[in-house]
Amino acid sequence: CVAEESETDRDESDVSGSDEDDTCWISWFCNLRGNEFFCEVDDDYIQDDFNLCGLSSQVPYFDYALDLILDVESSHADMFTEEQNELVESTAEMLYGLIHVCYILTTKGISAMLQKYKNYDFGPCPRVYYSGQPCLPVGQSDIPRSSTVKIYCPKCEDIYYPRSKYQGNIDGAYFGTTFPHLFLMTYGHLKPQNAAQSYVPRVFSYKLHKP
Ligand SMILES: [Zn+2]
Repeated sequence: CVAEESETDRDESDVSGSDEDDTCWISWFCNLRGNEFFCEVDDDYIQDDFNLCGLSSQVPYFDYALDLILDVESSHADMFTEEQNELVESTAEMLYGLIHVCYILTTKGISAMLQKYKNYDFGPCPRVYYSGQPCLPVGQSDIPRSSTVKIYCPKCEDIYYPRSKYQGNIDGAYFGTTFPHLFLMTYGHLKPQNAAQSYVPRVFSYKLHKP
Protein backbone atom coordinates (compact mmCIF):
# COMPACT_ATOMS: atom_id res chain seq x y z
CA CYS A 1 0.00 0.00 0.00
CA VAL A 2 0.99 3.61 -0.32
CA ALA A 3 3.04 4.93 2.56
CA GLU A 4 1.74 8.10 4.05
CA GLU A 5 2.43 10.37 6.99
CA SER A 6 0.42 9.23 9.93
CA GLU A 7 -1.78 11.78 11.59
CA THR A 8 -3.50 9.46 14.02
CA ASP A 9 -2.09 8.31 17.28
CA ARG A 10 -0.46 4.97 16.65
CA ASP A 11 1.29 4.49 19.95
CA GLU A 12 -0.02 0.96 20.39
CA SER A 13 1.86 -0.12 17.32
CA ASP A 14 4.36 -2.94 17.63
CA VAL A 15 6.20 -1.59 14.65
CA SER A 16 9.35 0.01 15.93
CA GLY A 17 12.09 1.98 14.33
CA SER A 18 12.31 5.06 12.21
CA ASP A 19 10.06 3.80 9.43
CA GLU A 20 6.97 3.88 11.64
CA ASP A 21 5.61 6.91 9.84
CA ASP A 22 5.74 5.10 6.52
CA THR A 23 3.48 2.32 7.69
CA CYS A 24 0.07 2.35 6.11
CA TRP A 25 -2.98 1.64 8.24
CA ILE A 26 -3.39 -1.93 7.01
CA SER A 27 0.22 -2.91 7.80
CA TRP A 28 0.01 -1.13 11.12
CA PHE A 29 -3.22 -2.94 12.02
CA CYS A 30 -1.98 -6.38 10.98
CA ASN A 31 1.17 -5.89 13.05
CA LEU A 32 -0.63 -5.06 16.27
CA ARG A 33 -0.24 -7.63 19.02
CA GLY A 34 -3.07 -10.15 18.73
CA ASN A 35 -3.78 -9.36 15.09
CA GLU A 36 -1.35 -11.97 13.75
CA PHE A 37 -4.19 -14.00 12.20
CA PHE A 38 -5.15 -11.19 9.78
CA CYS A 39 -3.58 -11.05 6.34
CA GLU A 40 -3.11 -7.76 4.54
CA VAL A 41 -6.04 -7.11 2.23
CA ASP A 42 -5.11 -5.67 -1.17
CA ASP A 43 -5.93 -1.98 -1.63
CA ASP A 44 -7.44 -2.84 -5.02
CA TYR A 45 -9.90 -5.20 -3.42
CA ILE A 46 -11.04 -2.59 -0.88
CA GLN A 47 -11.34 0.12 -3.52
CA ASP A 48 -13.74 -2.01 -5.56
CA ASP A 49 -17.23 -0.94 -4.42
CA PHE A 50 -18.60 -4.31 -5.44
CA ASN A 51 -16.64 -5.99 -2.65
CA LEU A 52 -18.03 -3.61 -0.02
CA CYS A 53 -21.64 -3.88 -0.98
CA GLY A 54 -23.87 -4.08 2.04
CA LEU A 55 -21.18 -3.02 4.50
CA SER A 56 -21.99 0.69 4.43
CA SER A 57 -25.27 0.03 6.24
CA GLN A 58 -23.63 -2.22 8.81
CA VAL A 59 -21.06 0.19 10.19
CA PRO A 60 -21.36 3.79 11.39
CA TYR A 61 -19.05 6.42 9.87
CA PHE A 62 -18.47 4.04 6.95
CA ASP A 63 -16.89 6.57 4.57
CA TYR A 64 -14.53 7.96 7.20
CA ALA A 65 -13.52 4.50 8.36
CA LEU A 66 -12.84 3.49 4.77
CA ASP A 67 -10.66 6.58 4.23
CA LEU A 68 -8.71 5.68 7.35
CA ILE A 69 -8.10 2.10 6.16
CA LEU A 70 -6.95 3.30 2.75
CA ASP A 71 -4.81 6.13 4.20
CA VAL A 72 -6.83 8.68 2.27
CA GLU A 73 -6.12 12.18 3.50
CA SER A 74 -9.32 13.37 5.07
CA SER A 75 -10.30 16.55 6.83
CA HIS A 76 -12.86 14.91 9.10
CA ALA A 77 -10.37 14.56 11.96
CA ASP A 78 -10.40 18.33 12.45
CA MET A 79 -14.14 18.76 12.50
CA PHE A 80 -14.91 15.69 14.61
CA THR A 81 -14.79 15.54 18.38
CA GLU A 82 -12.29 13.25 20.03
CA GLU A 83 -15.06 10.77 20.74
CA GLN A 84 -16.17 10.75 17.13
CA ASN A 85 -12.61 10.17 15.98
CA GLU A 86 -12.31 7.25 18.38
CA LEU A 87 -15.51 5.83 16.97
CA VAL A 88 -14.16 6.15 13.43
CA GLU A 89 -11.03 4.29 14.51
CA SER A 90 -12.89 1.42 16.12
CA THR A 91 -15.24 1.30 13.16
CA ALA A 92 -12.27 1.03 10.83
CA GLU A 93 -11.14 -2.09 12.70
CA MET A 94 -14.57 -3.66 12.41
CA LEU A 95 -14.86 -2.69 8.75
CA TYR A 96 -11.46 -4.23 8.05
CA GLY A 97 -12.59 -7.44 9.74
CA LEU A 98 -15.77 -7.58 7.65
CA ILE A 99 -13.78 -6.99 4.45
CA HIS A 100 -11.19 -9.54 5.59
CA VAL A 101 -13.69 -12.38 6.03
CA CYS A 102 -14.71 -12.05 2.36
CA TYR A 103 -11.20 -11.41 1.07
CA ILE A 104 -9.75 -14.64 2.50
CA LEU A 105 -12.22 -16.60 0.37
CA THR A 106 -10.86 -15.05 -2.85
CA THR A 107 -7.94 -16.49 -4.83
CA LYS A 108 -5.58 -13.75 -3.67
CA GLY A 109 -6.75 -13.84 -0.10
CA ILE A 110 -6.57 -17.58 0.28
CA SER A 111 -3.01 -17.62 -1.06
CA ALA A 112 -2.07 -14.85 1.39
CA MET A 113 -3.42 -17.09 4.14
CA LEU A 114 -1.43 -20.03 2.72
CA GLN A 115 1.77 -18.12 3.38
CA LYS A 116 0.67 -17.47 6.94
CA TYR A 117 -0.29 -21.14 7.40
CA LYS A 118 3.16 -22.20 6.24
CA ASN A 119 4.67 -19.74 8.74
CA TYR A 120 2.61 -21.24 11.58
CA ASP A 121 1.07 -17.78 12.14
CA PHE A 122 -2.10 -19.48 13.39
CA GLY A 123 -0.16 -21.73 15.75
CA PRO A 124 0.34 -25.48 15.92
CA CYS A 125 -2.24 -28.01 17.15
CA PRO A 126 -2.20 -27.98 20.95
CA ARG A 127 -2.63 -31.76 21.17
CA VAL A 128 0.53 -33.72 21.96
CA TYR A 129 -0.05 -36.40 19.31
CA TYR A 130 -0.55 -33.83 16.58
CA SER A 131 2.10 -31.34 17.57
CA GLY A 132 3.66 -29.76 14.54
CA GLN A 133 0.39 -29.71 12.64
CA PRO A 134 -0.32 -26.07 11.67
CA CYS A 135 -3.84 -24.80 12.37
CA LEU A 136 -6.17 -22.36 10.62
CA PRO A 137 -8.37 -19.60 12.06
CA VAL A 138 -12.12 -20.19 12.14
CA GLY A 139 -15.23 -18.46 13.43
CA GLN A 140 -18.03 -20.36 15.12
CA SER A 141 -20.47 -17.86 13.66
CA ASP A 142 -20.60 -15.44 10.73
CA ILE A 143 -22.47 -12.86 12.80
CA PRO A 144 -20.17 -10.24 14.37
CA ARG A 145 -19.85 -10.23 18.15
CA SER A 146 -21.20 -13.77 18.59
CA SER A 147 -17.94 -15.47 19.51
CA THR A 148 -14.20 -15.03 19.43
CA VAL A 149 -11.88 -16.58 16.86
CA LYS A 150 -10.78 -20.20 17.33
CA ILE A 151 -8.15 -22.30 15.61
CA TYR A 152 -9.07 -25.38 13.60
CA CYS A 153 -6.68 -28.32 13.36
CA PRO A 154 -7.05 -30.13 10.02
CA LYS A 155 -5.56 -33.30 11.50
CA CYS A 156 -7.73 -33.90 14.55
CA GLU A 157 -10.57 -31.90 12.98
CA ASP A 158 -11.30 -30.04 16.16
CA ILE A 159 -11.25 -26.41 17.27
CA TYR A 160 -9.28 -24.80 20.09
CA TYR A 161 -8.79 -21.44 21.76
CA PRO A 162 -5.78 -19.53 20.38
CA ARG A 163 -2.74 -19.55 22.64
CA SER A 164 -2.47 -15.80 23.05
CA LYS A 165 -5.11 -13.97 25.04
CA TYR A 166 -4.76 -11.06 22.62
CA GLN A 167 -5.67 -13.33 19.71
CA GLY A 168 -8.43 -14.79 21.86
CA ASN A 169 -10.22 -11.44 21.93
CA ILE A 170 -10.58 -11.18 18.15
CA ASP A 171 -14.05 -11.55 16.66
CA GLY A 172 -14.52 -14.93 14.95
CA ALA A 173 -16.75 -13.33 12.32
CA TYR A 174 -13.65 -11.68 10.82
CA PHE A 175 -12.56 -15.18 9.73
CA GLY A 176 -15.91 -16.89 9.33
CA THR A 177 -17.18 -20.45 9.43
CA THR A 178 -16.21 -21.30 5.84
CA PHE A 179 -12.57 -20.30 5.59
CA PRO A 180 -10.56 -23.32 6.85
CA HIS A 181 -12.74 -25.77 4.95
CA LEU A 182 -12.54 -23.87 1.66
CA PHE A 183 -8.80 -23.55 2.27
CA LEU A 184 -8.40 -27.33 2.59
CA MET A 185 -10.56 -27.90 -0.50
CA THR A 186 -8.38 -25.45 -2.43
CA TYR A 187 -5.12 -26.91 -1.18
CA GLY A 188 -6.19 -30.56 -0.97
CA HIS A 189 -2.60 -31.76 -0.72
CA LEU A 190 -2.29 -29.97 2.64
CA LYS A 191 -5.12 -31.95 4.18
CA PRO A 192 -3.41 -34.44 6.48
CA GLN A 193 -4.24 -38.12 6.54
CA ASN A 194 -6.20 -38.70 9.68
CA ALA A 195 -4.25 -41.27 11.59
CA ALA A 196 -6.54 -41.96 14.52
CA GLN A 197 -4.12 -41.63 17.33
CA SER A 198 -5.28 -41.06 20.82
CA TYR A 199 -3.94 -41.24 24.30
CA VAL A 200 -4.11 -44.66 25.95
CA PRO A 201 -4.22 -44.72 29.77
CA ARG A 202 -1.69 -47.15 31.19
CA VAL A 203 -0.97 -48.43 34.68
CA PHE A 204 2.59 -49.73 35.13
CA SER A 205 2.80 -49.59 31.34
CA TYR A 206 -0.10 -52.05 30.90
CA LYS A 207 -3.10 -50.86 28.92
CA LEU A 208 -6.26 -50.64 30.97
CA HIS A 209 -8.91 -53.12 29.83
CA LYS A 210 -12.39 -51.84 29.50
CA PRO A 211 -14.77 -53.74 31.77
ZN1 LIG B 1 -4.91 -31.39 15.99
